[in-house]
Amino acid sequence: MRKHFAIPLALALSILTAARAQTPSPIPTPKEFFGFNIGDNYMLANYSQTEAYLKKLAAASDRCKYTVIGKTEEGRDEFMLVISSPENLKNLDHYKSISQQLAHAENLTDAQAHHLAREGKTIIWIDGGLHATEVAATQQLIETAYQLLSRNDSETIDILDKVILLLTHVNPDGMELVSDWYMRNPVPEDRSLEHVPRLYEKYAGHDNNRDFYMLNLKETQNIARQLFVEWIPQIMYNHHQAGPPGSILAGPPYRDPFNYVFDPLVMTSLDALGAAMSSRLNAENKPGYTQRSGSVYSTWYNGGLRTTTYFHNIIGLLTEIIGGPNPADVPLVPNRLIPSSATTNPITPQKWLFRQSIDYSVSLNYAVLDYAMRYHDELLYNIYHMGRNSIERGSHDYWTLSPKRIDAIDTLAAHAAPPTGTHRRAVVDTLPSRFYDSVLKNPALRDARGYVIPSDQPDFPTAVRFINALIGDGVSVDKATAAFSVAGKPYPAGSYVVKCNQAFRPHILDLFEPQDHPNDFAYPGGPPIAPYDAAGWTLAYTMGIRFDRVLDAFDGPFQRIPYGQLQPPPKAQSESGRYDCRSNASYTAVNDLLKAGKPVYRASRTGDFYTSPHGTGMEKIHPARIALCDAYGGSIPAGWLRFILEQYHFPADVIYPQTIDAGNLNEKYDVIIFVTGIIPSPTDEGYRYNRAEPVADSIPAEFRSHLGHITVQHSVPQLKKFLEAGGHIVTIGGSTALAYYLDLPIHDALVEMVNGKSRRLPNEKFYIPGSVLRMNLDVAIQSTWGMDSVADVYFDQSPVFHIDPKAAVDGSVRPIAWFATGTPLRSGWAWGQAYLQDGVAAFEATVGKGKLYAFGPEITFRAQTHGTFKLLFNALYKSTP
Ligand SMILES: [Zn+2]
Repeated sequence: MRKHFAIPLALALSILTAARAQTPSPIPTPKEFFGFNIGDNYMLANYSQTEAYLKKLAAASDRCKYTVIGKTEEGRDEFMLVISSPENLKNLDHYKSISQQLAHAENLTDAQAHHLAREGKTIIWIDGGLHATEVAATQQLIETAYQLLSRNDSETIDILDKVILLLTHVNPDGMELVSDWYMRNPVPEDRSLEHVPRLYEKYAGHDNNRDFYMLNLKETQNIARQLFVEWIPQIMYNHHQAGPPGSILAGPPYRDPFNYVFDPLVMTSLDALGAAMSSRLNAENKPGYTQRSGSVYSTWYNGGLRTTTYFHNIIGLLTEIIGGPNPADVPLVPNRLIPSSATTNPITPQKWLFRQSIDYSVSLNYAVLDYAMRYHDELLYNIYHMGRNSIERGSHDYWTLSPKRIDAIDTLAAHAAPPTGTHRRAVVDTLPSRFYDSVLKNPALRDARGYVIPSDQPDFPTAVRFINALIGDGVSVDKATAAFSVAGKPYPAGSYVVKCNQAFRPHILDLFEPQDHPNDFAYPGGPPIAPYDAAGWTLAYTMGIRFDRVLDAFDGPFQRIPYGQLQPPPKAQSESGRYDCRSNASYTAVNDLLKAGKPVYRASRTGDFYTSPHGTGMEKIHPARIALCDAYGGSIPAGWLRFILEQYHFPADVIYPQTIDAGNLNEKYDVIIFVTGIIPSPTDEGYRYNRAEPVADSIPAEFRSHLGHITVQHSVPQLKKFLEAGGHIVTIGGSTALAYYLDLPIHDALVEMVNGKSRRLPNEKFYIPGSVLRMNLDVAIQSTWGMDSVADVYFDQSPVFHIDPKAAVDGSVRPIAWFATGTPLRSGWAWGQAYLQDGVAAFEATVGKGKLYAFGPEITFRAQTHGTFKLLFNALYKSTP
């Protein structure tokens, strides 16, 4: 019945609204331009074509403006299509300014904010293409642009009136690579997205979605500028693929835990948007939406394109949808077929076509835009409200709730209570409020009011890199114009100050303070539930920044840096020809000197660099011939390491397993680096990414030399020869397994004896997903030059070792770093961390005339862990006494 009436009604509406919207010239359809409809089987548009089409749309329509937000790593223009009514497009600067004022919530009364909220336009960000092989997410951008520019129904007209949409491509290079790879096969039915030969973001591949608090990549920098400095949208929507098996898509709201620094309004707004999106699909009879416990996505992590927005009071949406240009099946997953609050409208097994995924995506975009149109004033006011809350929390004593604090209350209560025979309180038990007061009103446990980053720290250039990550993400930072003191401690001029009484306070706390991840188990005593990504990542720790927390209001000769104005990176300081090896920038300066053929010496006592020999104990250093081993398709950790080598000016060759297996390695290289996943680990599944390989004649000749794996049978003997003849090998993470294949006198520290047999500790006893741990270092050896006696290191289910006593005696294996206590956790989640006590995190081993360096933790993780880069750098020079 409904259908019977729907057609004439829709027709009548479109006739009415067509009169309202004066479309200037015909908008070319995708089919007219590309020769196929978006979503046709076996067809994908690439980036160049998309760019050309959208430029054409922009020329034909007065509803959009084609803008470029920067260059990509491969040099392409990255577009952002601004879509709104012709009237709104004439006043973009005005609406941008309103959006900024409300997001910053500075110097506004509530009444002024209400007024601005009514006057402003809702700013909505919708993107696509981040993960280039997730092609439904990429192609939907084109269809969405076309529909918004060509449709004249009243909903579209009202959206254009109330909303400014920023439709942004977030990985142009990837779309060009992947679409061309898919379309290269002339036979449509034989086209495949598998085995893309290299990373779809030059350095990071899939990890381009882990860079948003660090801003290493050009695309990330471009995007963060629009999201956190320029437009600060109230809602952002990040499209991904694929939905969990048996669903069509996963969307908001997401499962627990959420990060405790968020404003609660972020979380309830996610509920509202999730309801709008799933209800729209249900109203259109589009089943298969799953949410909350129906998928693995949570809101714990910072650093993702979507998740970083929560720390800025932005409602970040992510969907993961199924479907690609090759027709597929919705599989039968019986337990997905029981309707529940996670999956209200289950999809039944059936054939699934690409066009359906595109239609779903457009419906979801419209659901978000429709919500933004209807709740226009509220969305604009709420971001102000959250910003004002942040300023309030940062202006007074405030205590953020987190599991550790609640544990402290429990512990106090347990000690105070008479013995009852049970050690666990029931959920309904109540306690006298003095237990609360003694923890959550304890002045020593207050949130910081601000942070001081002294300019006289040994690696100030890295501290400025950290400051620029904050500024690039829209945080307001002050710089001291003169010396000052806080709480009796003096600081020099040029120090940076980050105060917490600002709208993006959650982001500041998150990058300076530990993440307190809850103990999250499937059931009491059961296996841990893996966090979606890292559990802890405190950037100030992993970058090795020296800073002070200030617990009271403070002020000084501080000059506020304008929003988004990045600080010039300080150059490495040379004092009478000496470069301090505690500063990472010194390595860049030294590499430039070596490249120019200038002599450089290292003091064997301190590791400092000198441009002329200073007394005894000096070694002349030379650039090493460095090779970085990669894999077909591109290893993500190797990509990040390649990025680091380029940033610090270490010239290096990227090689593949075939080169290793061919032997004669000493003729070509002095040092070979293996990151996690390249050398197979006996306990690992091997490669984390792109493990499956194509047959050689199915790929272009230029990539065939990338095929193959490191094997114990063929590669390890060559690596052994290389070491014995004087070569050096650096292994990180899982690739430290090489030490076992070389039969070095070490063994796995993370084992237990069961029935007389040794086995790896099960996750129920020991589980440390990506977290920050403190390790101790032997500062008497060259490997640790420039490091302090302790360092914060990124640990991700990393290998830990025990060195056999005989090796300690003969000196063949020497620890570089170890866990000196049973409580090394600094940030994140470390279940059973006591097992780490006395475990060796890193060691160096003499093999013949060569040396193997083994670093269990991820010392170069995502090019973020600047505090441990030197452990790699020190291994990358040759020296002569
Ligand atoms: Zn994705």
